[in-house]
Amino acid sequence: MFPVSHFNQTTTPFYYYDKTVLNNTLAKLTRLAGERDYHIHYAVKANANPAILRLIAASGVGADCVSGGEIKAALEAGFPAKKIVFAGVGKADWEIEYALDNKIFCFNVESAEELAVIEELAKKKESIASIALRVNPNIDAHTHEYITTGLTENKFGIPVEMLDGVFSQIQNYPHIQLIGLHFHIGSQILNMEAFAALCKRINRLQDELSKQNIQVKHINVGGGLGVDYDDPDKNPIPDFESYFNVFQHNLNLRGGQQLHFELGRSIVCQCGSLITKVLYVKKSLTKQFVIVDAGMTDLIRPALYQAYHRIENITSDMEKRLYDVVGPICESSDCFGKDVMLNATQRGDLIAIRSAGAYGEIMASQYNCRALPRHLIE
Ligand SMILES: *Cc1c(COP(=O)(O)O)cnc(C)c1O
Repeated sequence: MFPVSHFNQTTTPFYYYDKTVLNNTLAKLTRLAGERDYHIHYAVKANANPAILRLIAASGVGADCVSGGEIKAALEAGFPAKKIVFAGVGKADWEIEYALDNKIFCFNVESAEELAVIEELAKKKESIASIALRVNPNIDAHTHEYITTGLTENKFGIPVEMLDGVFSQIQNYPHIQLIGLHFHIGSQILNMEAFAALCKRINRLQDELSKQNIQVKHINVGGGLGVDYDDPDKNPIPDFESYFNVFQHNLNLRGGQQLHFELGRSIVCQCGSLITKVLYVKKSLTKQFVIVDAGMTDLIRPALYQAYHRIENITSDMEKRLYDVVGPICESSDCFGKDVMLNATQRGDLIAIRSAGAYGEIMASQYNCRALPRHLIE
């Protein structure tokens, strides 16, 4: 399935992006969202490769940005400003000003303190900032602790108990227009119960707000839909249908309310693989190590979150053997997989680390004075 014959044109390690997988994913996503009149914003932080961004922008979805740099990248890739939302607990003044100047759709505001700064900067520019309040719903997404975001102990969002204070604060801010409520509970979530729980939480909150005559036009439920890291060939496109159905069946939208999603991983993960060359097959007393030329500097997820990626030798068809697949970086955590079954492997073989399209290339670093990974999109 990999066009291995083209792979000697690009220096390893490199990210290989399969355009067909990405476009098929986008086609299915936009069709299912369109049928339900749902609004999708691609979470740029998952992968901001300019060519990937342009393909996603061309599908008509909007962008979810978490920095001024991401807003700039999104605008350059062709996402219209009126479809850009801007989240993040630490928006710098220049980022807020840049977003105001470009007239983005909405700021997802994470604190009362941030709201005061947006009011002040919008006042200076004599403009109005459209905002959604990011509510911390205190819901356990049952995902890795580093990627859960909707618990009270996390730094994200405004606790439900503090919302009343923020609503009264907004009354005194003529340059703030409240247009929505925003939620995001975490990432790589495959258990739909977590999203159903979010819907029920939002229903309860809306019931309480309607007693105070507060109703917003937009409900944004964030992202977090997971992908199949075990078998990317069987499930190249995430189950958007079941995901959307959870919201369709559990969330009570009020008259005229629009529903927004911010999906990152589920859009780009399965189209990408990290392709790396075997430098050595090193025998030790108890194990054989496949030492590849990619390291945690190219793909940090295994080292950072103990994440699993499927690993394949794409140039050998010999009988399978057991290996540890490791990189060249001077850190013990620089390991892509322990006890991995690979076709018998030799120096010079190519290894594919699968499902690497999300939180892969974008997190690359130059630790050990290494070059950043290249990419090939076809
Ligand atoms: C990271 C993030 C997303 C996207 O999460 P995925 O798990 O990649 O879908 C959406 N919204 C916010 C606020 C985020 O921080």
